[in-house]
Amino acid sequence: MRPLSPPASDLDDIVFAEESLEPAPSAAEPWKVLIVDDEPDVHDTTELALRGLEVLGRPLQFLHARSAAQARACIDAEPELAVVLLDVVMETPDAGLELVRYIREEARRGCLRIVLRTGQPGYAPEMDTIRLYDINDYKTKTELTRTRLFTTLMVAIRSYQQLRQVEATRQGLESIISASMDLSRLRGLKSFAEGVVIQLCALLGVQNEGLVCALSTSERFDPLVVAASRRYADMIGQPLSHCAPAHQEVITLLHATLRERRSTAGKALGLYFPVSSMAGMAAYIDVPGSLSEVDQRLIEVFVANITAGFDNVLLNERMTRLAYSESLLGLPNRNALIDWLDEGSTSDAVVAQIDLDGFADINSTLDQHFGDLVLKAVAARLAQCFPAPTRLAYLSVDVFGLLGLPQRITPAAIAQVFAEPFVIEGQMLRLSATSGLLHVPAGARGIGHDAITKSSIAVKQAKTRARGQALHYDVSQSELVRERMRLLNELRSALSSNRLFLVYQPVVDLRSGVIVGAEALLRCRAESGELIPPGRFIPLAEQSGMMVPIGAWVVRSALGELRRLIDLGHTGFRMAINVSHAQFREPDFVMQFARTMAECRVPATNIELELTESVAVENTQALIEKLNQVRALGATVAIDDFGTGYSALSILRQLPLNRIKIDRSFVSMIDKDASFARLIVTMGRQLGLTTIAEGIESVLQLGALQAMHCEEGQGYLFSQPVPARELQQLLASGKPLL
Ligand code: C2E
Ligand code: MG
Ligand code: MG
Repeated sequence: MRPLSPPASDLDDIVFAEESLEPAPSAAEPWKVLIVDDEPDVHDTTELALRGLEVLGRPLQFLHARSAAQARACIDAEPELAVVLLDVVMETPDAGLELVRYIREEARRGCLRIVLRTGQPGYAPEMDTIRLYDINDYKTKTELTRTRLFTTLMVAIRSYQQLRQVEATRQGLESIISASMDLSRLRGLKSFAEGVVIQLCALLGVQNEGLVCALSTSERFDPLVVAASRRYADMIGQPLSHCAPAHQEVITLLHATLRERRSTAGKALGLYFPVSSMAGMAAYIDVPGSLSEVDQRLIEVFVANITAGFDNVLLNERMTRLAYSESLLGLPNRNALIDWLDEGSTSDAVVAQIDLDGFADINSTLDQHFGDLVLKAVAARLAQCFPAPTRLAYLSVDVFGLLGLPQRITPAAIAQVFAEPFVIEGQMLRLSATSGLLHVPAGARGIGHDAITKSSIAVKQAKTRARGQALHYDVSQSELVRERMRLLNELRSALSSNRLFLVYQPVVDLRSGVIVGAEALLRCRAESGELIPPGRFIPLAEQSGMMVPIGAWVVRSALGELRRLIDLGHTGFRMAINVSHAQFREPDFVMQFARTMAECRVPATNIELELTESVAVENTQALIEKLNQVRALGATVAIDDFGTGYSALSILRQLPLNRIKIDRSFVSMIDKDASFARLIVTMGRQLGLTTIAEGIESVLQLGALQAMHCEEGQGYLFSQPVPARELQQLLASGKPLL
């Protein structure tokens, strides 16, 4: 059954005189009211009754649906619908209630207000439905006189507006939270500021343009534009005072916002972010018209939320700066160089490590402050010689790094840096550096660590081969380094697990062939059991500092063997011990030597120390003193491998020596040319020294040396270096080795 039309008397009540109902022209958005009723009259009368009225300063606009189905379509099409005046009984007795369910449950239009109407007094929908579906009002059509209808509508519209505000706030807060989450993923101030621009525009529903973020630090009063969108893009990276005059309004508002330290709204919006570590950030947005209360509140929440974000980003930037640069020179550090190398480049490049020579001495002999000034001066010179795009980094105490084009970073260009002396605190200082260069092919990525290691290897190689110069890395160098590392480990384990031992090569009197002594020679057995040649491991042990403990072990072992030989009755036996440069240089060498001698209970007169000629390069006075101390103990000293070093004869003459050992190379050439050997023997005699020839392998050599009156000799002709037991047997037999 269809509901009856309202009686005429009621209708009279709601019909107003046409003239007074002329719609007042209003610019404001109208409230949209949907009338749903299957009776055409109701539409007309309702519209007539309410025509021209305004609610909260906005007019009404009526939409019409004559069935529940039409109503659904209209609701779906009109997101801004404020009120539905709904007939309960239409196609079916509950078509109206079914529409209510649709509005709330399916269309999820919680804000839309519903006023139920029925033509049948006494017919009331169940109270449950009213409660369940948040129905504003329930009226019989007869109740809806103009006044009542208006009152009902006004209440509904007010409540719609409140609900919309709450909803907008909720949505706004949601988008602030998701904006903050999006922003928190952005690294770096610039991208964060750009993110703030985008999110603010989205929040306010304005075009993604017209926003500037300016940063003001305490040192830099002129704020800097960090991010800007679209038509303000030309301001990016500029101090505000340098921005084009066309942006004067923006500049003025941002200045005011930062000066007053608060957000200001005028023709546009100036937002202030009280970032704790600096004077503040400010943003400018072109917002057309004034902001709604909701928008203003949301902006406040946004600003508070984002300020913490700015703080985090700035902290992060500072930490990144610290991680990627160092404070003394303010240069990018090792990590930065690794990152650059990891990034790779489209063209070939060269990475160089420049290691200052003797910087440790500068730092210790002069003071550290002076050392810092030296580093600063070098950094400045490097920056001047290698301007951008070559990149400069500070890698460690006295090592700088360069990365750039191969034609720029060359050994010659690096040498140029140190060609002129440096002037530091009025002092002229000549500096040199040893450098390692590595070619980095175009497109190589992720090679940072590897490239740093290889260029370090090149530096190390340059240090041993060409100190003060620059060398390019080559593959064989790294294999060499690896091999040295392996050998060094081998040596270390040999020392700790008794795989070092001594062999003894007899020294004979060249006139009689009688054994007068022996030279102790070190041997090292690898873990695999094979012998490592001394020519390989001894120089390495010397370079690595291991020769000091190893040398001490040699002295102790050789003197232990000497003790046994003396005990066996060879009281005049002379034990020759090789002493490396590094070992002899130790300040307490003589003291240690004397102590070991005492411990082994051997007289110094049975001991000879062999030093290579290179010791004579050292500070002569100190060397003379030390040699004198050794001599004072009673031991003798021989210069080994004589003729192979570069020592000046004048220096040799001053040294308190006992013997010269003619190097094997001169002995082996005696067959062809005996003049060198003869020269050495003659010279020795003039200096009052006896001579001993090493490496005698043939009778011919022996004969020549005897003819020269060379006193002693050793070599395979007499005996190979032999183990202690064999030496004892040789001595026990008493047979001359001639
Ligand atoms: P060096 O002190 O000049 O020792 C002589 C070297 O010549 C020894 O080599 C010896 O085996 C070798 N030799 C002796 N006679 C002949 C010969 O007739 N023909 C040939 N071809 N070679 C002969 P080795 O034992 O390989 O030692 C090499 C070098 O290692 C030594 O040269 C010495 O400078 C150093 N060295 C050996 N033991 C020690 C040590 O305990 N301490 C230190 N600091 N250096 C040592
Ligand atoms: Mg020797
Ligand atoms: Mg020698």
